[in-house]
Amino acid sequence: MYHVMKEIKIEMAHRLQAHSSKCRYIHGHSWKMLIKLGAPALSGGMVMDFAHLKNVLEEVVGFLDHSLLLQDSDPLCEIFYKWEEVGSSLPGMRLYAISAPPTSESLAEYIWQEVWRKLGSVPERALMTVVQETKTSTAFCDAPPNRAVKLELKHVCG
Ligand SMILES: [Zn+2]
Repeated sequence: MYHVMKEIKIEMAHRLQAHSSKCRYIHGHSWKMLIKLGAPALSGGMVMDFAHLKNVLEEVVGFLDHSLLLQDSDPLCEIFYKWEEVGSSLPGMRLYAISAPPTSESLAEYIWQEVWRKLGSVPERALMTVVQETKTSTAFCDAPPNRAVKLELKHVCG
């Protein structure tokens, strides 16, 4: 079996609104987001072109660079929705909302579902995603078991 990994780095803030400790406050990380792809045989000497994997990763999560990611049920989202409704925009604020707590695990699952969809014919077990929020905290996802629950990520403002 052959494997390749591709990584992108983004700067992003988040908060876990229900967290009992300091993670409930808005704070940022230098995130590493990786995809690992396996294949039993090479095609043209490759599992898949690194440039293609980079493009897929950029399409799926690259836009989150220098943004704030909140859960869509976070009351802070309501404030920003209202702000946009009155025709204002918050200078220097770019906000996205995800339909799950914005943890490394949720991001790993979101990346898995989106990358797998984009890659098309890749077997589920061939793809693994990795999200590292600090040097000591890393989440992995391969073939999420509850595929009926699709994570949604949407632009809120900025
Ligand atoms: Zn954090």
